[in-house]
Amino acid sequence: MGSHMAITETPEQVANPPRIYTMTAADRCDQCGARAYVRATMHSLSELTLCGHHGREHEATLRPAALDWLDETEALNVRLDVSP
Ligand SMILES: [Zn+2]
Repeated sequence: MGSHMAITETPEQVANPPRIYTMTAADRCDQCGARAYVRATMHSLSELTLCGHHGREHEATLRPAALDWLDETEALNVRLDVSP
């Protein structure tokens, strides 16, 4: 029985390109008017913009029906928006 050598694979150093967020402060949640971080493009090509809260809330129903689902809620963690 050969001893199992730990195979140390050196993963390629994947440079982390800075994520470009396309949602801006001008994008507002259709439901509550808060800043939107989720954009759902429907088959009718109409777009729904939702805040992180409503994006999560409607994801289960909207996402399967959406043509495209853009989720930039992680921008919430990047930009330390201090909301009063
Ligand atoms: Zn909302």
